[in-house]
Amino acid sequence: MPVLPHPHRLPLVPLLVSACLLAACGNPPPSPPAAPPASASSVSTSTSTSTSTSSTSSATLAAVTPGSSAGAAAPPPLTARNGAVPILEYHRLGAADGRWVRSYASFQADLQDLYNRGFRPVDLRDLSHSVLPVPPGTHPVVLTFDDGDPSQFTWSKTDPGTPGRDSVAGILWRFHQAHPDWSFAATFFVNKHPFGGDSQAKLAWLVSHGAEIGNHTYDHADLAALPLAAQLAEVGKEQAYLAQVLPGYRVVDFAYPYGAVPNWKQIATGTYAGVSWHFRYMALVGSNPLDSIPTATPANVPRIQVAPPAAVAHPQWRDLVWSSWEQRWLPTAHLYSVHRGSG
Ligand SMILES: [Zn+2]
Repeated sequence: MPVLPHPHRLPLVPLLVSACLLAACGNPPPSPPAAPPASASSVSTSTSTSTSTSSTSSATLAAVTPGSSAGAAAPPPLTARNGAVPILEYHRLGAADGRWVRSYASFQADLQDLYNRGFRPVDLRDLSHSVLPVPPGTHPVVLTFDDGDPSQFTWSKTDPGTPGRDSVAGILWRFHQAHPDWSFAATFFVNKHPFGGDSQAKLAWLVSHGAEIGNHTYDHADLAALPLAAQLAEVGKEQAYLAQVLPGYRVVDFAYPYGAVPNWKQIATGTYAGVSWHFRYMALVGSNPLDSIPTATPANVPRIQVAPPAAVAHPQWRDLVWSSWEQRWLPTAHLYSVHRGSG
């Protein structure tokens, strides 16, 4: 039986690293994974069930559950069946699909496809909830956006104070408005001064509308190439920057630039220049669904890049982009699910 690569041992290959690595990528590619994308039989069949103990989750669920009404008899508690959660990874939007670019039309189509398949978004913070905040009968998906590219947030020229339709935030926001049971949950992993200017206002807009901001280091640093003190400085400077521009907001999740993982537990918790942090989830760059949600934090979690297979240079890795997982794995995947009752 093939076994999913453990997140800590994922191959860190050019396919699976961010676009920013391309210029510096001169290393020969390591061997591809031994196994193709897992069939359902290789995905965790853990059925650990927990009852809803999180008031935050319950409140959120009530807000997104159609038909709930005050004064009615209390419905059976929501329970969750653990299983796989796809964590998708985007970088920037543009006119046409490419290795590191998703076209506006394709991104819109991705959202509709996920919606039609019964997925609803959560952010990385939500993974620590006892029951993830999605409506009963649906499955969580996490959308992540790296690097704070300008195409992730523009201001609308016709609707002041809202993100433009030519940006991730604007497309997500309008999709949420058209589909109220699709929340504005998403995780933006940023460096210093993201989104091409007006960073503080854009970050504040995202947070105030429910999105998550995560740490992606201050300078988009290759942490694996740095001594520990410099790693902590890169992480800590970004924590301090985000604390300055988002007063009162607590950053709890992290993504490795280039997918380069150092001795990760040494940076999962730290203090730099008086700023302390403890990360819950630390996002890798590739390359498979999260087969079950880690109950202990900190934990590394795998992501899946969204790119057309034809744009991937190495054929053996074309099976590891989202569209390939969607075709070969999803139809029989054991997905995390939320339902009512104890079963
Ligand atoms: Zn990056």
